[in-house]
Amino acid sequence: MPQQLVEGLRRFRRESFPRFREHYQRLVAEGQRPSTLFLGCADSRVVPDLLTSALPGDLFVVRNVGNLVPPFGPDTGFDGTLAGIEFATIVLAVKDIVVCGHSHCGAIRALFTPLGADAPHLARWLELALPAAVDSEMTEANLRRTEMRSIVLQLERLMTFPIVRERVERGETCLHGWYYVIEEGQVLGLDTASGEFQPLS
Ligand SMILES: [Zn+2]
Repeated sequence: MPQQLVEGLRRFRRESFPRFREHYQRLVAEGQRPSTLFLGCADSRVVPDLLTSALPGDLFVVRNVGNLVPPFGPDTGFDGTLAGIEFATIVLAVKDIVVCGHSHCGAIRALFTPLGADAPHLARWLELALPAAVDSEMTEANLRRTEMRSIVLQLERLMTFPIVRERVERGETCLHGWYYVIEEGQVLGLDTASGEFQPLS
């Protein structure tokens, strides 16, 4: 048993839960109604609720390696990301979808350093970011640019989902591209007009 985590559970129950008791009880009685699907990287340094100062019930979070979006299709097998996108849009009818990438992403770095044959699922999964790779040379600048370009690519792929496209075209859902600069605590947002990322925070 990871003792540090168990101590964290006890501290949550003792200190944090009492402050939010009524909030949690209301969320249980009325059900969750998060306004936003946050599609982020599984990286341990990306903590969506902390980053956005969100309360329980605010964000429906789907995280995977590299904040990647598979293409919509009838025959993609078992996929938690596709299921999460459908749940958020069809069941929860979220108003916003944020695809949040970040600096120093291991998934993006792995595009430049081919994985061994013992990680076939990871290698296949990372193909979803491959068209964003700017160059074969792994420089810090190329990594940063690829991280940002991948966010744009995933947003484009989200629009291949009929339900997402319909909701966006009806003005019911907005898509957003975010880039979290971990070392600066800063989030940049994609400006769709210029294609550039500008500070949001
Ligand atoms: Zn990452």
